[in-house]
Amino acid sequence: MTTTTAVNRLRTEIPGPVSRALQSRRSDAVAAGVGSTLPAFVDHGADGLLVDVDGNELIDLGSGIAVTSVGNPAPAVADAVRRQVERFTHTCFMVTPYEEYVAVCEQLNALTPGDHAKKSALFNSGAEAVENAVKIARHATGRPAVVVFDHAYHGRTNLTMALTAKNMPYKHRFGPFAGEVHRVPMSYPFRDPAGMTGPQAAERATSRIEQQVGAENVAAVLIEPIQGEGGFVVPAPGFLRALADWCAANDVLLVADEIQTGFCRTGAWFAAEHEGVVPDLITTAKGMAGGLPLAAVTGRADVMDAVHAGGLGGTYGGNPVAAVAALAAIDTMRSRDLAGAAARIEAFAVARLRALAEVTNVIGDVRGRGAMLAVEFVRPGSTEPDADLTARVAAACHRAGVVVLTCGTYGNVIRLLPPLVIPDALLDEGLAVLERAVLEEARR
Ligand code: PMP
Repeated sequence: MTTTTAVNRLRTEIPGPVSRALQSRRSDAVAAGVGSTLPAFVDHGADGLLVDVDGNELIDLGSGIAVTSVGNPAPAVADAVRRQVERFTHTCFMVTPYEEYVAVCEQLNALTPGDHAKKSALFNSGAEAVENAVKIARHATGRPAVVVFDHAYHGRTNLTMALTAKNMPYKHRFGPFAGEVHRVPMSYPFRDPAGMTGPQAAERATSRIEQQVGAENVAAVLIEPIQGEGGFVVPAPGFLRALADWCAANDVLLVADEIQTGFCRTGAWFAAEHEGVVPDLITTAKGMAGGLPLAAVTGRADVMDAVHAGGLGGTYGGNPVAAVAALAAIDTMRSRDLAGAAARIEAFAVARLRALAEVTNVIGDVRGRGAMLAVEFVRPGSTEPDADLTARVAAACHRAGVVVLTCGTYGNVIRLLPPLVIPDALLDEGLAVLERAVLEEARR
């Protein structure tokens, strides 16, 4: 990879005048509860860039929250969608089926971890997939309880709000929430007692389940193998393995929410693979379909088939346009080895972020896998979260035309989710902007 040369990609301040005019229309028309991280309105995308309506080229280190991994637009996805909208746009698979839905399920069954018999069902959004995984797990086991973790994020619908940990902004005054959801401690190496191993952290969680819920009442343990919105928390080695073993010993289903981690994002097709764990059920969405809305539950055929006919579905689930987009995106991931690309992004960016952490005392932790990387900001010389600095660093990146996202229970994490096809020079340029922003804001 190259060292940075300054390229002037900005024609106006961010957001520019045309975006500001649109922002004012938006404020009049769009509900205030729907936010935007960087209010520059996008005109088109190109190879790791988002070009806004003022002609500014923004470097995309967010991929629309881990969605446009294969490019935006990706030529193969665009072609597949174009062809499909000319054929038919919708029938409802529950009314008259079509091959593309079946083909996506075949891909999911083949690509997800484990060589046991698997089946899939398709939905529209991540939250809907998680809801359905819980429905399936409860139905298949005949048990009510679902176990989730501190810092977890699983969506914004009523059940998934209950599964999500963080109150603001996701849950505040939106209750009452669905019942039989039990929260246990996550393995969070940066914040756990020093030296706590993965198996010890798992024991802390499973003993809590046994004391407070009873293993025999638990349908499923639901976990993000690497947490997304909660702060890109990578559990200690052995944590997932020990949880999986406990689940197997207690006839509890292990459900991996791979909505953010799946489809090559972490340097493998699925993040559970890094720990050699085979979940009973897996939820996917985001990166699967190159920007079209599609989600899935994939899992053990006996579990998936436990539900009575007609018990699962929805008008749009597995829509043919989204399905062909997924087939094209998956094909691109395979042919361009985007898992390998994610691993190369990790090698390059982690070295840069670690070097940055060496020269400032506001970075407590650099972590992540593949192209899912994060920096956790703290007050100098402590582990105390610094959300204010984090917001200032993000804002400085945005002003400089780099799309970065924040996350974390304490709002003190900047996360990087570049498209897996991002050109090396652009990643280099985006990281240089982040480095400058951190050093300048830390000095204030
Ligand atoms: N689970 C995880 C791990 C996620 O990251 C997300 C989205 N950020 C969801 C579920 C919810 O997905 P959606 O926004 O498509 O409903």
